[in-house]
Amino acid sequence: MDREFFDNAFDKAKNAFEVAYKKTGEVVNTEKIKFNITSLKSKKDKLFAKLGKEYYNDIKNGNTGNYVEIFDEIEEINEKIEELSNEIDYAKNKKFCPSCGKAIDESAVFCSFCGAKVIFDSSKSENNEEV
Ligand SMILES: [Zn+2]
Repeated sequence: MDREFFDNAFDKAKNAFEVAYKKTGEVVNTEKIKFNITSLKSKKDKLFAKLGKEYYNDIKNGNTGNYVEIFDEIEEINEKIEELSNEIDYAKNKKFCPSCGKAIDESAVFCSFCGAKVIFDSSKSENNEEV
């Protein structure tokens, strides 16, 4: 058995897999979060419209409405949007472990969760395409 040959071949395959995984993982992750933010924003727009409509009807009919529920819902959505925005910022500065898939520091060489070796992809800072 040529142990060394096997290890080298395995490492090469693993390295290719790591880079590919990292790139796909990042795209899927942030795109999904962005999609969630967009749907939350449209939900918020609907709540604003609902709030305005109810307010208008109440004023028109001389009623005092209770808008706390709508307010709370909007506040909740605002919080969720902020959370998701933070997640995007977080994901931007992170890379994902090819072994366990957890987010780890961009500069990390080994995964702090499972200990797998992580290839540092510096292409991000060098991809200023010249036109
Ligand atoms: Zn890991």
